[in-house]
Amino acid sequence: MATKPPGIPEGHKANFETLCRAAEHGRLALLHCQDCLTGADAYLVTAVGDVPGSTDKVMSPFAVMVSGDPYERYLPPAPGGGFDKSSLPAGKAWKSCDACQRRGWLHVLNSDHGKRIERCDACERFTSDEQAVDHVHELAVLAHDAMMKGAGL
Ligand SMILES: [Zn+2]
Repeated sequence: MATKPPGIPEGHKANFETLCRAAEHGRLALLHCQDCLTGADAYLVTAVGDVPGSTDKVMSPFAVMVSGDPYERYLPPAPGGGFDKSSLPAGKAWKSCDACQRRGWLHVLNSDHGKRIERCDACERFTSDEQAVDHVHELAVLAHDAMMKGAGL
C-alpha cells in the first residue's frame, strides 16, 4: 500500500503565492550564492522588493535552482498516493538503506584492510569503494572550507 505524502507545507504554499505575485510584477531575479554547508555554488530564485524611502532593493530568496537532472533526483507524486517510482531511469532506483542511512558509504574495521571507508553494498549508491572514498574526501574538503570560512579564517 502506497504511503500518502503529508502534502505541501503551508509555509511553502504561502511562499509560492508570494513568488507568483513577484512574477506577475516582473520582480523575480536569479542570484548566484554559496551554500554555507557545502561551499558549493547555488542559484536562488529571489523576489525583489523595494526598501521604503530608498532606491535600494531587497532580495528575498525563495527557492534554489536544481543542479543536475531533476528527473533523476526527484520522484513525482503518484495518482494513488505516494511517489511514482516508475519514472526512474533504469539503474537509478532510489533505495532507503538501514546499513548506511543513505550515505552510500560505511566506516568499517576490516580484518584484511584495517579501518577504512567502503561503499555500502546494501544500497550500491557508489559503484566502487574508490568512488565512495572520493565522495567522502570531497565532503571533508567542503566541510573543512565551510568551517574555516565560518570561523573567518
Ligand atoms: Zn547503504
